[in-house]
Amino acid sequence: LMAMVMVFGLAACGGSDDAATDGDSGEATGGKIGVSMPTQSLQRWNQDGTNMKAELEAAGYEVDLQYAGDNDIPTQVSQIENMIAGGCEVLVVAAIDGSSLTEALKGAAEQGIPVIAYDRLIMNSEAVSYYATFDNYKVGQMQGEYIRDALDLDNAEGPFNIELVTGAPDDNNVNFFFGGAMDVLTPYIESGKLVVPSGQTEKAQCATANWSTEEAQKRFENIISSVGYAPDGVKLDAVLCSNDSTSYGVQNALLAAGYTADNMPIITGQDCDKPNVKNLVAGYQSMSIFKDTRTLAEKVVGMVDAIMKGSEPEINDTETYDNGVGVVPSYLCDPVIVTVDNYKEMLIDSGYYTEADIA
Ligand code: BGC
Repeated sequence: LMAMVMVFGLAACGGSDDAATDGDSGEATGGKIGVSMPTQSLQRWNQDGTNMKAELEAAGYEVDLQYAGDNDIPTQVSQIENMIAGGCEVLVVAAIDGSSLTEALKGAAEQGIPVIAYDRLIMNSEAVSYYATFDNYKVGQMQGEYIRDALDLDNAEGPFNIELVTGAPDDNNVNFFFGGAMDVLTPYIESGKLVVPSGQTEKAQCATANWSTEEAQKRFENIISSVGYAPDGVKLDAVLCSNDSTSYGVQNALLAAGYTADNMPIITGQDCDKPNVKNLVAGYQSMSIFKDTRTLAEKVVGMVDAIMKGSEPEINDTETYDNGVGVVPSYLCDPVIVTVDNYKEMLIDSGYYTEADIA
């Protein structure tokens, strides 16, 4: 492997973000790590990439950080192939489509390059050694429980109207986000206390390609007009949204339909993206899930470091995440609920954002 590093070192692993060319070439490093991120168009992946690069470099590694355009699968495939050819010794990959990397990662398996699936599980590949993520099922469960408690479903008479919005169907996390939330909500739908007037309750019907804000907004505009939701029309009590980018689209559609902070339904989210935190404060969004990307980056750097030093990475789950060829040993970080009541403590006091970020 070292020979590979020397032969290919600066040739193929060099992308726009290549630390190896950042002025300290020639300096001995702990090895080169490839980090493949899905898109630069969503805040969280920029943070994930930046945090990871900084921490890996601080730990003495060179980093080849690549973003696959705006969720472009062929770009991600070729970036990963270049990382393998370029002598990266460990790959950290947040997949766009969990099932599209099987071929590309064969090369990693052949050369004994360990692969860490970052945030999203990589499916149908034996090359995946570890998975680091937040507890995705718990994220969904927390969103479902938030709606249950906010509507007081165990005591109130109802029925309440709810609509359901989830993310990219090729993202394995969706199964956990949507599954976790629906495990909480389905009994109430079955008992009639919750009603889904659009009739769209299947994951495929509620999915949003690429987690796109615009797609979510379009679908929700259709739902608003077909059901007749309006501040003075059919009452909408809650919208389950699996994340902030889709939640933002739903909020746009509702605001355009005349809703205000006074009559917005309960709306969930995830990621604490800046525009969403602003909307939380404005009263348009009820909650988000905070997944501190610093924690995830730190865990993954720990994993990389352990692998490079020949020891066992820390894992805390060995049964949940089956990628189709076997269960992948995982480290699950803890998600936290953020509302208008605790956002300052969680996001500002913790140093995640400054006041100005969300002003
Ligand atoms: C991540 C979420 C994110 C979504 C869209 C998911 O895989 O876990 O945090 O909101 O992708 O990027």
